[in-house]
Parts: sequence; structure tokens; C-alpha cells
Amino acid sequence: QAAIEGYRNRNPKSAAMLDRARAVMPGGNTRTSLWSDPFPLCIESAEGCRIRDVDGHEYIDFLGEFTAGIFGHTSPVLAEAVAQAHADGFGLSSHTPYEVAFAERIVERFPSMDRLRFANSGTEANMMAVMAAKLTTGRGKIAVFDGAYHGGFLSFGHGSSPVNAPFDYLLLPFNDAAAASTAFAAEGSEIAAVLVEPMQGAGGCRVADRAFLEVLRNLTQTHGAILIFDEVQTARMSYGGAQSIFGVIPDMTTIGKFFGGGMAFGAFGGRADIMDRFDPARPGALPHAGTFNNNRLTMAAGLAAIDTYLTADKLTALYQTGEDLQAAIKDIFKRTGAPFKITGMGSIMNIHAEGTTPEEALTRQKLLRFRLLEDGYFIADRGLIAVSQAIEEKHIEGFLQSLEKVAATCP
Ligand code: PLP
Repeated sequence: QAAIEGYRNRNPKSAAMLDRARAVMPGGNTRTSLWSDPFPLCIESAEGCRIRDVDGHEYIDFLGEFTAGIFGHTSPVLAEAVAQAHADGFGLSSHTPYEVAFAERIVERFPSMDRLRFANSGTEANMMAVMAAKLTTGRGKIAVFDGAYHGGFLSFGHGSSPVNAPFDYLLLPFNDAAAASTAFAAEGSEIAAVLVEPMQGAGGCRVADRAFLEVLRNLTQTHGAILIFDEVQTARMSYGGAQSIFGVIPDMTTIGKFFGGGMAFGAFGGRADIMDRFDPARPGALPHAGTFNNNRLTMAAGLAAIDTYLTADKLTALYQTGEDLQAAIKDIFKRTGAPFKITGMGSIMNIHAEGTTPEEALTRQKLLRFRLLEDGYFIADRGLIAVSQAIEEKHIEGFLQSLEKVAATCP
């Protein structure tokens, strides 16, 4: 209670901004994940990894736009790319050279992608992949996993959210190879696809076991279903995404977030025989339109981002930074005996508060965040951390010092 009072007193302008927003947006919100109790901070500007709220506080951003931000918040390279595309003209009612070069770069990275198509978000990319799988197999059901999040209207019970899906789905336990085998034995001929995150992101950074993914690969192959990896978050784990790290290659992959260089973005790709069904020159081709699918500003930003920031070396370095940070956090919790644990993969991780009841854990989780905010470190309400390339060693050292202090004194 005292922490909430302190938060209210520190952030009067953020509170006032929410009151104003409430009149025109439900709850003052247009993006559910941004809601936090008693009110979210309103950030007005940023530079590198520093963000500034409307009350004038500065934070080091360890949330990285819920994993969508890899480059930090300001980039002369991206600014120049967008400005150039803008100067050369946008909204051209046509294909452009940017999109060809961008598609070539992406397809080259992912072993599972022979061809791809662009969309406007990860949600859309997943919907299109599911549609392609259903029409390719002539089957209706999509196997998904509890806790999965595949988009704004494709969620399967992560946190307190209810299941929210516009297709016929079969909900299976995550990381349970035996349950998947049983489901395929019973209903394999009806399953069009298995849609899975190599690490459940919104579901709490739960990493898939390699053996689980291998079983999914074998089951889908045996039963003629399509394996789709949602790599919207995990594509950052290496040049070829998490699939290259696990060594399990799906039939289709979806990506989004940072690949758009800071712009709204999604893409789905896969085996040529599946993707070529979208070839409009073919009789009976699958339709896939979208005014902004190849938005020139997005294509230009994405192309610049992929060449500058999403290189093999830089992604490997970011992965290692994240693994080291996770190890250091684990060590803090172990040494201090603080009632928290951490899960994750590379630069994306989640701190989970423990408690004798869910309420106690939730209160502790919120308290941890309030205390970190007071020290100038920004993470998600639910404990999510996504390290960006703008975070330097000194920021990590400061964060760990703060976490050690906070964790040791957290009731
Ligand atoms: N898939 C995963 C794994 C995600 O984490 C997200 C977004 O958080 C999505 C899909 C949806 O992407 P978008 O928010 O761009 O629709």
C-alpha cells in the first residue's frame, strides 16, 4: 500500500494523462499489456536505452518495448532510412525494390523459409500461417499450447487472459510430449497445424525442451500436419532464430516486432510448396492482400535494421549478454534467498515472484517493480525483461546492484 502511495505521489502527470485518456479510450488504454495498477507511466521521450516520463523521471529501459525493441529508442541509421524512403515517395500502389531486398535477407536467415509474405503485425502473420495450413491440408484444427500468446486475438490463457481464438483449436499442455502424442493418436487426421513458440514469451518466458520440439516435428511429419514456429519474439536468439539453436526446423515460421526496424511489422514464410499457393498467377491462389503489407517506410526501416543491427555477430553477442544477466540474477536470488526465480532464453527473461498464495506472489511481483522504478530501472509489471543493444555493461551493473538491494529487502 505504501509503495502504491509513493508511486501515486511521484507520478501525478502520468495519473492525469490517464484520466484524460479515459474519456476517449476504454480505461485510457489501446494496448492491454500496457495497463498496470494503479496507472501506467506515460513516457514522453527517449534516447538510446533511457526513457523519460511526463513527470520528468528517467529510467534505464530493461523492458525494450516488450521484446519488440532491440535497437534502443533512437537510431540515426533507421531515421536516415525512413527519411530517405519518405523523400523518394511512399504509397506507390506497387512493388518496390526495398521489399525484394528485404525479403531476400530474411529468407536467407531462416532454414525453414523458402518464401515469405509480409504483413502488418505478428498477429496477422500467425493468422495467415494458420489459414495457409488449413487450406493446404484441408483440415480444420490447430494444436496450440496453454499459456501461448500468438497475438491480440490469438491467446491461450497466459496470465489472467482468457482463451481468445478465431479458429477451431486443440489446447495442449506446453512441453508435454506425451500429451501431444496422445492427441495426435486420437485426432491426428483432423489437425492442420501445430502452432508453437520455441519460448513462450507472454506465457512467462517458458523455454521449450528440444525433445518436445523434436516430438512435435515428428508427429506433424507422420500425420501430414504443418509445424509452425511463432518466432515473433525468439527470432532474435540467433541469425537463424531459435530454430537454428534448437536444430528443429518447422514447415513455417512467423516473425514480427524488431524485424520492422521500429515500424509495424509481421511476416510469415515457409516451404515453397505451401507458400506458392499464394502465387496470384496460379489458378485458385490463396488471397492475401493488405494495403500496408509492403509499406515502403517499413520495408526501408526493416532493411536498414537487418543489415545494421540484426547481424549474426550482434545477435550472438546480445544472446550472451542476456544469458550472463540471467545467470547473475539467478545468483542474486540464490545468495539472498529472495523469493523469486528467473526463466528465459538469451536476452528475453521473466522474474517470477513466489508466494504461499497467488495473491502474495502478485503483491511481491508488483512491489519488486515499484522498487526498481524508484531506483530508475524500467521492467514490466509481470516481470518481463528484454535487453536491447543499447544497454551497456554499466547499466547492467547498476541494475544488478539495485535488484540485489530490492530482492534482499522485499518482504
Ligand atoms: N507472437 C508472439 C510470440 C508475440 O510475443 C506477439 C506479441 O507480443 C505476437 C505474436 C503478436 O505480435 P503483434 O503484437 O505484432 O501482433
